[in-house]
Amino acid sequence: MKVVVDLNRCQGYGQCVYAAPKVFQLKGSEILAYDPAPSDQWRDEVERAVHACPVRAISAEFDNPPVESASTE
Ligand code: SF4
Repeated sequence: MKVVVDLNRCQGYGQCVYAAPKVFQLKGSEILAYDPAPSDQWRDEVERAVHACPVRAISAEFDNPPVESASTE
């Protein structure tokens, strides 16, 4: 998947770090470092981070559509 953080918008609140520590890390007090192409295994965490960010600075693009539990046929 692809992850982009608008660092102009990011205020270094660190909510994403709590949501997805494998993908987002804070360096120092408010410099965010992140993996722009994390493994899909962190998808749930990244989705949590997207929603957790108070300034909506994170956008994520997933390689595969979400797995639906039931298909309509
Ligand atoms: S939650 Fe949003 S504002 Fe906070 S560090 Fe992450 S990207 Fe930046």
